[in-house]
Amino acid sequence: MATKKDNTAAQDAAKKALAAVQAKKNAEKSQSTATSTRASTSAPKAKVQHNITHVGQESTSTEELLAITRKNALPYRIGAIILWVLALAFEVFAILFFTHKFEPKFAAENPGWVISWVVCLVLDLVCVIIGSQLWKKGNHLDPASAKNKTRFWIHNNLGVFMSVLAFLPFIIFVLLDKKADKKMKTIAAVAAAAALVIAGLTSVDWNPISQEELLEAAGTTEVFWTDSGTVYHLYEDCSHLNHSVELKEGTTTTAIENGKTRACKTCEARALREADEVAQAAAEAGKTNDGTTDTGADKTEEPIPVVDGDGN
Ligand SMILES: [Zn+2]
Repeated sequence: MATKKDNTAAQDAAKKALAAVQAKKNAEKSQSTATSTRASTSAPKAKVQHNITHVGQESTSTEELLAITRKNALPYRIGAIILWVLALAFEVFAILFFTHKFEPKFAAENPGWVISWVVCLVLDLVCVIIGSQLWKKGNHLDPASAKNKTRFWIHNNLGVFMSVLAFLPFIIFVLLDKKADKKMKTIAAVAAAAALVIAGLTSVDWNPISQEELLEAAGTTEVFWTDSGTVYHLYEDCSHLNHSVELKEGTTTTAIENGKTRACKTCEARALREADEVAQAAAEAGKTNDGTTDTGADKTEEPIPVVDGDGN
């Protein structure tokens, strides 16, 4: 429940931040058309002289955008599946080595036997972890719909199920093996259980993104990003862009098309802060306005405050 709430809160924050930046840009635009010379001299604020390339938007509909994100995610998903299959293959070999079902010369003697299944388990672990990271990356590029919460969780955390599949059968085979030494059985089972926990924890997507969030952010607000980054920035002078000279600029939809499916947290916090400041200033201006109109109103409704004052 808490995560659901957090997700919608984050979604709202992202939406607000984008709206605030867009509103500010619109205001600046109307100002710059009014006093073009002043605006052009005060505009560049970034510490670094960026070389900005404008990128045009490819998609014109939601379907087209989702087709692009699916295409972006495909290599990562294929990579994840290949690595998971490899992980299961290494597990099978670990079981075969441990139970002496597969016994080439090097695995017949004792150090060779232990090394054979330990190496297989390590390779199993490495493949599961890398596979899960690729899977998560694919989901960040092309998020699943969060309409069905259970399906959304399973889709995002498929790596957790793969972790169980990659180690639990080995543990069962080890524990059921009657020929093996008791001490070796315990060591192997504990090692595989530890590997399962490590793989499982690193496979969880602690910060998933939903298709709904992605589509909500898609729009015409101009943002900035770098080729190597994973997020887009709402401000050109964001501190995270201080070390990048080459910047890309385009709409949030274009940023998403280029694999930047999320806004930078620093930029988002700044946009919300600035929006709050604007709202506060507006409220204060409203108050003083109210004050002046109040005095005007007081004059016409004089009897009432006078009565109140007498009462006190
Ligand atoms: Zn930023």
